[in-house]
Amino acid sequence: MSLDNEPIYTGGCQCGAVRFRVEGALGDASICHCRMCQKAFGNFYAPLVSVRDAQFRWTRGEPKRFRSSNHVLRGFCGECGTPLTFEAPENSIAGIALAIGAFDHPEEIAPQIQWGIEARLPYVDGLHELPGHDTMEDVPAAGYLATLVSYQHPDHDTDQWPPKDASR
Ligand SMILES: [Zn+2]
Ligand SMILES: [Zn+2]
Repeated sequence: MSLDNEPIYTGGCQCGAVRFRVEGALGDASICHCRMCQKAFGNFYAPLVSVRDAQFRWTRGEPKRFRSSNHVLRGFCGECGTPLTFEAPENSIAGIALAIGAFDHPEEIAPQIQWGIEARLPYVDGLHELPGHDTMEDVPAAGYLATLVSYQHPDHDTDQWPPKDASR
């Protein structure tokens, strides 16, 4: 069977211990404002995309899981803590969803719908109106930023991680 025409998505956690690959069309992309998702992501809301109808597999490592309710498991990297999944395996409608920010190219996956809006934090709708600056405009931090070396996994698959030599 040829998958030549199928879209392919890759991603993983920030440390690179867990990587995934999705072949085929992604399902619904959403943000969920519910309190459980806020806690699971340590964030204002959870950006998630369903991989229910695609071929999904872990290509390096596998997440640890916390059972956040009787119906749902939350997957995260046991090494670095990056939130990775929402898993409701017994629910054929929900299935598995992946954290959009963990994809190598999250810009390709625009949310289409919001859930849990009863728990939406009161300032979320105004975030885009806050004053904005480029990272390097932070003058006191600029020197520190100029010498910054990232130890995060890059936004593409790697044969080996962490690398043997210093070049990442
Ligand atoms: Zn990790
Ligand atoms: Zn939620």
